[in-house]
Amino acid sequence: MSNPSPRPHSPAPQTEEHLHLADRFIAHNYYPLPVVVAEAEGAWVTDVDGRRYLDCLAGYSALNFGHRHPALLQAARDQLDRLTLTSRAFHNDQLGPFCRDLAALAGMEMVLPMNTGAEAVETSIKVARKWGYDLKGVQANHANIVVAANNFHGRTTTIVSFSTDPLAREGFGPFTPGFRVVPYSDADALRDAIDEETVAVLIEPVQGEAGVIVPPDGYLSAVREICTELNVLFIADEIQSGLGRTGTTFACDIEGVVPDVYVLGKALGGGIVPVSAVVSSHEILGVLHPGNHGSTFGGNPLAAAVGHAVVKMLETGEMQERARELAGPFEAGLRKLVGQGVVEVRTRGLWAGIDVEPSLMSGRELCERMLAKGVLVKDTHGTSIRLAPPLVATHEDLEWMTEQLGKVLTER
Ligand code: PLP
Repeated sequence: MSNPSPRPHSPAPQTEEHLHLADRFIAHNYYPLPVVVAEAEGAWVTDVDGRRYLDCLAGYSALNFGHRHPALLQAARDQLDRLTLTSRAFHNDQLGPFCRDLAALAGMEMVLPMNTGAEAVETSIKVARKWGYDLKGVQANHANIVVAANNFHGRTTTIVSFSTDPLAREGFGPFTPGFRVVPYSDADALRDAIDEETVAVLIEPVQGEAGVIVPPDGYLSAVREICTELNVLFIADEIQSGLGRTGTTFACDIEGVVPDVYVLGKALGGGIVPVSAVVSSHEILGVLHPGNHGSTFGGNPLAAAVGHAVVKMLETGEMQERARELAGPFEAGLRKLVGQGVVEVRTRGLWAGIDVEPSLMSGRELCERMLAKGVLVKDTHGTSIRLAPPLVATHEDLEWMTEQLGKVLTER
């Protein structure tokens, strides 16, 4: 559903009003672009003043299947009419089938459902530590986990304890001990950081927030080998990279690598409800016993129904195929801009990080100019922009987006 006529320069009285409300009443923990979205369908959104935009952020990949995908909406509506919340004090009839099919999709045995990505990462850290104490024999309270520099795994106090981004950390100490940071893409450094008290390696198979940093071929396989050899869990945070974005179900699939633990979120909720999960084996998730961990909303029937519909969609492979089909022309279009204001392009499936020539403009300025052209994109750091259009976007949508990008980079 392509419509490159966003009329972005028309008067925007409603937008102004909402920006004022946001400034006055919403904590300033984000710096959003000045657009107020009111409606959306597929890859396109409409703002409060009736202007249309192509969404090339897709909720940081939470909207992989587009806005309001009919099958996902139907699953949510059907479930809203039946049952929305039980808590885990009781069973509900949605959670078992969802977890069975998610485990099968991942080639795993068991699922621990949570809500947000950060909660799922926290859960994986707790599971890895307990696995280390109960099964590996690490001395109590001595476990360490190896992570990568420039990671992004969420915002809790434990997770920011091993962030290398000063903005995410400063002012939030004291920090949780037990993490070792090594350079991303450096398998030797990772091996050197592991000792007998290491319980896990936690990495993103592609670093999304860092600017879609794609590791060199062989890195994920090397991590797998090292973890197997040294009896350390390989935890793949596929919250942003997983569920179709890269043209495969998981980014790890590109190297044919299977981690010990997948951490999933974002697109698992179909852009409708927060759904996250830790997916692993009986042995690993079996270290948790009643009372060790939980969440009031985790595994609620509405989330499970939507998550199950997402799994059903991924089972057919159509979304992954679509991402693969769109990926080639998408990458080729972006590469044409190298030397014309773009200094580097990194892609994995329908996911790209581009670095803009710093003397031209900042990433933020580029996003503001793209907004004026009718395209929603978001800078990550400095002059890096992340492009993650919904997988339901059309070739024409993406061509049009690249055209706008070219104009923004060359217009003076
Ligand atoms: N892990 C990765 C790789 C992410 O990209 C994100 C969010 O961007 C998170 C974890 C945190 O997810 P949430 O914002 O749902 O807590």
